[in-house]
Amino acid sequence: MLFAPKPRQRRVPAASRDPQRQAFVAGWKPLPEHLKREAVTHAPEHTCCPDCGGALQHFGEDVSEQLEYVPDSFKVIRHVRPKFACPACERVVEAPAPSRPIERGLAGPALLAHVLVSKFCDYVGFPVMWRSAPKWA
Ligand SMILES: [Zn+2]
Repeated sequence: MLFAPKPRQRRVPAASRDPQRQAFVAGWKPLPEHLKREAVTHAPEHTCCPDCGGALQHFGEDVSEQLEYVPDSFKVIRHVRPKFACPACERVVEAPAPSRPIERGLAGPALLAHVLVSKFCDYVGFPVMWRSAPKWA
């Protein structure tokens, strides 16, 4: 057959979204690689398809990072949300994104609390706060 239809190719999403790339797209400077990282996995509520009850297949994950302050150091919390798909009905199941104190912001709640307490309770100006902040190395 001369004009046989080409087999339709399915677009396969990347196995994981790179947080460095997401930061670039969002306009942030990526968080330094040498900071201590803590991974938190958010599993979906359902272990089978909520529509048809079929078995789910893992096909990727969304990864986002949040900068957090612990006394005298910073750490990066890496939120990993694995994605599953139902092969029967193509339903995608994923846990909801964790809430952030500032939508699409990098700062975690402890970091924001530290900044606010330093500014309004300790009366430390931002330049002094920045100079006295723990080094990023
Ligand atoms: Zn299904």
